Amino acid sequence: MKGAARGPAGPPLGAGSRDARRLICPTLTGSVMCPRAAMNRPSERPEPSPRQDADEGFMREALEHGRRGLAAGEVPIGAVIVIDGVVVARAHNAPIALSDPTAHAEVLALRAAAEKVGNYRLPGATLYATVEPCAMCCGAALQARIARLVYGARDPKAGAVESLHRLLDDARLNHRVQTRGGVLADESAALLSEFFETRRRRDRGGVAEPG
Ligand code: ZN
Repeated sequence: MKGAARGPAGPPLGAGSRDARRLICPTLTGSVMCPRAAMNRPSERPEPSPRQDADEGFMREALEHGRRGLAAGEVPIGAVIVIDGVVVARAHNAPIALSDPTAHAEVLALRAAAEKVGNYRLPGATLYATVEPCAMCCGAALQARIARLVYGARDPKAGAVESLHRLLDDARLNHRVQTRGGVLADESAALLSEFFETRRRRDRGGVAEPG
């Protein structure tokens, strides 16, 4: 019997398959996305909203800037800031080039956006980051009072949105940021993998790597 591997008390194979799909969040980004993933029958899946489509478009632009970071020898993370549907700032990680430990893509993009609009607060802005921002970048996003953060891959080692901390949803702070994770996460993770694989190869060749 095909379903025997589940054990005698297991559910029928068909139901089991659906249950498996329900348990596996395709984006592995936690509770924000999982309820949607739980809608396991294709006919029940909601059509992507215009906002979701827009999120992917802006995330592609952030990824393009991440690739520029890769070409420059930086950790390939990109960010863009969108206000009223318009990109007002773009950046990639640049701590090595700028000799600046704070030069993460998100901080550089927030600085550029604030300068552009002539305001240190960015109410209504959405920050797109290819990777879950760190504590410093979440702090900067809170300082800027942005409305929304959309990010790609999770960062289990440094992410401060949901992995290590939940800084953007902390009731003790005087501002909270709406978040959406897992947007084009595979592309973002692939870019990081490419970078670290290249660096490993170079390190094996005996070339020192800063940072
Ligand atoms: Zn950061």
